[in-house]
Amino acid sequence: MTKTAHDFAKASAKALGDRQSRAILHKAIGHIRVLRQRSVNAMPDFAERQARAVAVRDKTLAKLPELLEKLEASVTAAGGRVHYAETAETAAKLVAGILAERGVRLVVKGKSMVSEEMGLNEVLEAAGIEAVETDLGEYIIQLAGQRPSHILAPALHVSKEQVSDLFARKFGRTSTDIPEMTRIARDSLRQKFLAADAGITGCNIAIAETGTVTVLENEGNIRLSGSCPPIHIALMTLEKVVETLADAAVVLDILPPAATGQTLPVHLSFFTGARREGERDGPREMHLVILDNGRSDILADPKLRSILRCIRCGACLNVCPVYQSVGGHAYGTVYPGPMGSVISPLLKDNPGDPRQPFACTHCAACSEACPAGIDHPALLQELRRRVSETETDLPVAAFNLLARHPLLFGGAAAVGRLFDPKLREVAAVAPDAPVGRFLRCREFPGLARPFSRRFKALARRLKRLQGGRA
Ligand code: SF4
Repeated sequence: MTKTAHDFAKASAKALGDRQSRAILHKAIGHIRVLRQRSVNAMPDFAERQARAVAVRDKTLAKLPELLEKLEASVTAAGGRVHYAETAETAAKLVAGILAERGVRLVVKGKSMVSEEMGLNEVLEAAGIEAVETDLGEYIIQLAGQRPSHILAPALHVSKEQVSDLFARKFGRTSTDIPEMTRIARDSLRQKFLAADAGITGCNIAIAETGTVTVLENEGNIRLSGSCPPIHIALMTLEKVVETLADAAVVLDILPPAATGQTLPVHLSFFTGARREGERDGPREMHLVILDNGRSDILADPKLRSILRCIRCGACLNVCPVYQSVGGHAYGTVYPGPMGSVISPLLKDNPGDPRQPFACTHCAACSEACPAGIDHPALLQELRRRVSETETDLPVAAFNLLARHPLLFGGAAAVGRLFDPKLREVAAVAPDAPVGRFLRCREFPGLARPFSRRFKALARRLKRLQGGRA
């Protein structure tokens, strides 16, 4: 596992201090949760639909290599080309290479967390290619020079007023009326769609039997990105494939309700290959880039593979008390929240802080909300166990030693009881010392009298009670 410099604990502490962003986040997430609940309530058979989707995801994972081969054959037959990339870095270079070879200077992009995983925008910029995000949330984030904070709603942490200020700075036009703000963004983006040499999209589901890339969206920017420019590049991670159109329909049945509370999104696009003989529109070239970045290893790992069932609905983020408190940026990875805490440490490039799985309260709200039936707490527990095996945690190591030696344990506990009443004072004097940090947000119950001593008194009391009854 590649270690990165990101420190989740420090980033979280900073995020917790940002009251304004937390308030914006709470309001936005509250709204999404109400929509989702309304939509799930309107489907009395949601549990059965969910069970069908889980079965499809498991069937897919069980025959993934075979399905990927089938997908490649179907895409090729439809006039497209499939490229496999083992790491995020190679994938980004591959895409930049395709574009550079064709002299592309302007790209319109959208709906792709995979491109974030690849760090694609930076690689394209270094190659002299302008990449414009076209999803409104992603566009706002790009203009602000930030990263998405949510896998579905990238600008969830930004208020309407902040967007208005941003547009005033960037376009010299402003408003806090949302339709007007959307018009401002649209006026700028429309020119880009018409001028772009290539369009890059993500992929919600790839259908092996037809070679179709399916994308859900509400703004129409993906349909334009995939059909206006002469080149379309779709990006997916390898687990996104399903076998048949019928299987795709089963997943589509639960994805919009779980994600945004919609029965169906406004636009549901099916891209199959390149423009055919006699067709008047569509891209002349279509490429499908399939990224691995550690997912083959996850697939081969029976204890963790269920995370690959994920359909990226974002529901687990919206109910997670940790995500709701610190927001997406604190994670320092592309995928935040419960699903991110499981998958990010397993990725080859940009795995984030390996201790991220420890930032979980085990409330299990995520597994309850997950339409793919993923048991995040169990997976996080397994990741913690693996981290603990490779790292020496001094307090835990000390406890292990004491627990194996009763005499030592008794002595250490006696010393601990001497200092116990002073701990709060130590915490006040040295708030950044380990004891200070530990007590900053905890009520320490204090070290009780050892059970061996309490046992004698309890035994005497029990005897008295039994004697009284007789
Ligand atoms: S883990 Fe489950 S709830 Fe979270 S994004 Fe994936 S499918 Fe949705």
